[in-house]
Amino acid sequence: MNDLTNEALFARAQAVIPGGVNSPVRAFGSVGGTPYFVARAEGPYVYDVEGTRYIDYVQSYGPGILGHAHPAVTAAVNDAATRGTSYGAPTEAEVLLAEEMCARIQGMEMVRMVSSGTEATMTAIRLARGATGRDRILKFAGNYHGHSDSLLVAGGSGVAQQGLKGSEGVTAGAVADTIVAPYNVVPEIDDTVAAVIVEPVAANMGLIEPQPGFLAGLRDACDAAGALLMFDEVITGFRLCHGGAAEWFEVQPDIWCFGKVIGGGLPVGAFGASREIMSNLAPLGPVYQAGTLSGNPLAMAAGLAQLQQLTPAAYDQLTATAATLQAGMIAAFADAGVVASVPRVGPLLGLFFGDTLPTDFDSAKAVCENGVYERFFHGMLDQGVALAPGAYEALFPSLAHGSEQIEATIEAVRHVAKNL
Ligand SMILES: *Cc1c(COP(=O)(O)O)cnc(C)c1O
Repeated sequence: MNDLTNEALFARAQAVIPGGVNSPVRAFGSVGGTPYFVARAEGPYVYDVEGTRYIDYVQSYGPGILGHAHPAVTAAVNDAATRGTSYGAPTEAEVLLAEEMCARIQGMEMVRMVSSGTEATMTAIRLARGATGRDRILKFAGNYHGHSDSLLVAGGSGVAQQGLKGSEGVTAGAVADTIVAPYNVVPEIDDTVAAVIVEPVAANMGLIEPQPGFLAGLRDACDAAGALLMFDEVITGFRLCHGGAAEWFEVQPDIWCFGKVIGGGLPVGAFGASREIMSNLAPLGPVYQAGTLSGNPLAMAAGLAQLQQLTPAAYDQLTATAATLQAGMIAAFADAGVVASVPRVGPLLGLFFGDTLPTDFDSAKAVCENGVYERFFHGMLDQGVALAPGAYEALFPSLAHGSEQIEATIEAVRHVAKNL
């Protein structure tokens, strides 16, 4: 090892990087303390620069569905890298990934690769406006769709701590055509609305399941108004199950957005739709979008290698892992007399320190801001378990989390819950 410490690195980082981080939640602002600086990661574990090992439930906020440094993914990346890192010309790898994604998603005939989830939703909104000739979009409070101007309003995740406007630096004009509605209530929409964008399972205000009929209601409302329904599956895509949220809930959107899992830990996003809708995109149509690194060969190789591991059996395993963890956490909190709920949708887990499950942003905020998560987070970190440093994030167990890690995690929850 070397003599690097988290403390020393954070000080140096803060001198040259705003807040010492390249994405706000990493700064531990809402939980306090010094972030751990990761030196390496393997399977269910991350190791910081001081050599401390943590069972990792952050997993890069979703990309690490196989666990860290899965041999199939690292081999694909290494192999691709030896053939060059970017060409600015089409490759077989991007065709293979697009074919795999379209084969899995019923009704999605074409897909365009970009470099982040933010880029995917931002461009999908442009596509929806171009395809419908309408300006307005509707989003739900507490849903997070990345950090593009028109979608930051009332965003979840790290934006939740910033207040309703989302961010300084966003003009009134940029959000003038964004309507914000409460999650889990089917809004009234008219023929000025180009698209309704929704997280089919809200995973950036804690984990909130769509109420029965909500997604189907959105489908009907969009059909009636001639608006496009857009599922932001950046978290749910290829995580919930083989075909994502559309398959899970049996509701088909018009446009899908992806990220996280499809990049295997490299910077990737994508959006897809029917051939008809996608034909509006340049070079076929008038809606422009481009990217120097779009379809990057390393990222495509990593994403394809990851998806190939995600068989139906893999989803069964991941769901069983999440269910065991959920049951263990519920029992541990109950035994310690800690009021908590642990919602789960398939392999996705959430945690709220309140007795009723939130259904929208307001009810989520009331729980997420009660101060308990911060203490729990640090208690778990002291026990060698890394959760996201913010109450609004979900837990991401991976396929590398085996019974040993799950039992150790539940044991840690027992210990920390007793001292909450
Ligand atoms: C993470 C996330 C995004 C943004 O993706 P980035 O790759 O961070 O830009 C968009 N939508 C949802 C639902 C997300 O969870």
